[in-house]
Amino acid sequence: METSPFSAMDVLERASEREGVVHMEVGEPDIEPPVAATEAAIASLRAGNVDYTNSRGKIELREAISDYYDRTYGVDVPPDRIIVTPGSSPALLVTMLDVVNPGDEVVLTDPYYAPYPNFVRQADGRVSTVRLDPEDDFEPNVEAFEATVSEETAAMMLNSPQNPTGAVMSGTTIEGLVALAERTGTRIIADEIYHGLSYDAEDHSVLEYTDEAFVLDGISKRYGMTGWRLGWVVAPPDEVEAFNRLVQNVLICAANFVQDGATAAIETEPSWLDGIRETYRERRDLLLEAAQRWGMDLGYAPAGAYYLLLDVSDLPGDAFEVADLFLEEAGVAMTPGPDFGSMAENTLRASYATSTEDIQTAIDRLDRLLGDLENEAHLSRS
Ligand code: PMP
Repeated sequence: METSPFSAMDVLERASEREGVVHMEVGEPDIEPPVAATEAAIASLRAGNVDYTNSRGKIELREAISDYYDRTYGVDVPPDRIIVTPGSSPALLVTMLDVVNPGDEVVLTDPYYAPYPNFVRQADGRVSTVRLDPEDDFEPNVEAFEATVSEETAAMMLNSPQNPTGAVMSGTTIEGLVALAERTGTRIIADEIYHGLSYDAEDHSVLEYTDEAFVLDGISKRYGMTGWRLGWVVAPPDEVEAFNRLVQNVLICAANFVQDGATAAIETEPSWLDGIRETYRERRDLLLEAAQRWGMDLGYAPAGAYYLLLDVSDLPGDAFEVADLFLEEAGVAMTPGPDFGSMAENTLRASYATSTEDIQTAIDRLDRLLGDLENEAHLSRS
């Protein structure tokens, strides 16, 4: 089966071979995990918690996740609907395998998170897309979904805050899409991995509107714990058992002591994120201001996560060539947009999860590079 490369990881590989590169290609948060999480994981490891756990995950962790949904969105998600996984990526694949039968269609937004179409294809499904426009702040249009959903549609895949745009879906849109899913017998699969990292909008979980969706989340982004590999799925009540059987076969369980660290992370005071969100907002503003100066602004501002799409259509070459130019001539690594769908074709995705100081360095270097390009173009014209 043909699986397209994930350019962010390709760029990372090439950028890692060079010295002094500013890494804006991957979504690796530069925050330290909550201290209590590290301590709990170490204590658990020392206590010898290195064997398999129940495939659903330890009950303490599932209770902590259940409390998190209650505290954050006021929704009741019983622990028996929560299944813990080694990261949300394998959980996405398992969800697709569960929901999609061969030939079924899955509706994605375009732009989309690059791996989604590959997950659909692994389940022998077909992808169709609904365009998101920067003029609408990349907010999905419910009527456009309605026009795309057909008899053959098994699922609609939603992601908010969104990678690669940073767009945050409104509660009204989610409510409209949930109603559409109910009318058409379509499952919603919602990727909420960036929840808690919105600074200009409020995050609404799909679980506020329905129990019938698959909702995925994890500790990677919100707590800066990507390498711990821990995520979870909230499954619809009548799907939990089938889903768990797949998890038993494919994943077995998430690492035992990591689950204890995750419990401590999820129990962190919500205010722990206040400063982090503020920092992301400041970086967003810094980068957006530079993008406007460079004429690369798409006319929207990310409201969450830490990604900004830059319009590079005025530069010579396609987005891959511009990404190479930025890496080779300025030592700045960004991800070529085509990975994220046709609506991101002439863009680069800049991640501002790296330090503010590094972002400033990247801006200074690109100021110089773009200034030089402008001078060259001017000389060749005169
Ligand atoms: N969904 C989205 C939208 C992401 O950006 C990422 C990470 N880049 C993931 C899922 C995967 O996260 P995890 O570390 O939980 O596998």
